[in-house]
Amino acid sequence: MKVVQLFPDLLGTYGDSGNGEILFRRARARGVGASYQRVFYGDPIPRDGDIFVLGGGEDGPMQLARDALHRDGFLGDLSSTNHQILAICAGLQILGERFVTSKSPSSPGLGVIPIVTERIENHKRIVGEVVVEADSALELPILTGYENHGGESRLLEGVPLGRVISGVGNSYSSKIDGFFNDRIIGTYMHGPVLARNPLLADLIICRLEPKGLNSFSPLEVDREVEQLRENILSQRGMSLSRRIGLR
Ligand code: GLN
Repeated sequence: MKVVQLFPDLLGTYGDSGNGEILFRRARARGVGASYQRVFYGDPIPRDGDIFVLGGGEDGPMQLARDALHRDGFLGDLSSTNHQILAICAGLQILGERFVTSKSPSSPGLGVIPIVTERIENHKRIVGEVVVEADSALELPILTGYENHGGESRLLEGVPLGRVISGVGNSYSSKIDGFFNDRIIGTYMHGPVLARNPLLADLIICRLEPKGLNSFSPLEVDREVEQLRENILSQRGMSLSRRIGLR
């Protein structure tokens, strides 16, 4: 299993460039032969990756990342292969139909995710903790992250990653976060999201074909991670006992 962290020099806000390493380490801890490659701006994108990870970024760097992905043609190749993609915030926005930047209200996205990102009407940047109940099909516990974005996203079709319990997510009015299908998970949760929600990392690995990884053995619970999750949820009057389908 090869994990590719795309452009950590452009898309790596709030620890996001650590997500790839978490996937790699959690696979290795189960004895899965795994490798991890960081692909910097200007480097060729390897075609033999299994999981590609995009983080969040500022308006300028995210446009450079969009242009590099477009030039490379990498996403065109994806349609005929079997990759998993995790895209956070700016990563999610550039994979959408179009997005907003400080200089342009409508910059073309890569059209991989049916989402458009527009300027927030009152220009009130969305900043803070976010808590999400993931779609029940994913069988995940409550997810937590940190969001910081100046655009609001509208899902044109498809399924959001989950329902926002606290915080904002895609937009002030929708109360949903991100998007998922069988190949892509997109979210506004930074943190990095996979450190804060390790079972989301395991889910992404388990979604790879062949599905032999389905019998993934549980790892010992990381007390620090659980404590962090407990603290964040208890500040919002919730508790970890409210888990959804925890294995
Ligand atoms: N620049 C984008 C926005 O402000 C994405 C921000 C981010 O990735 N944190 O909406």
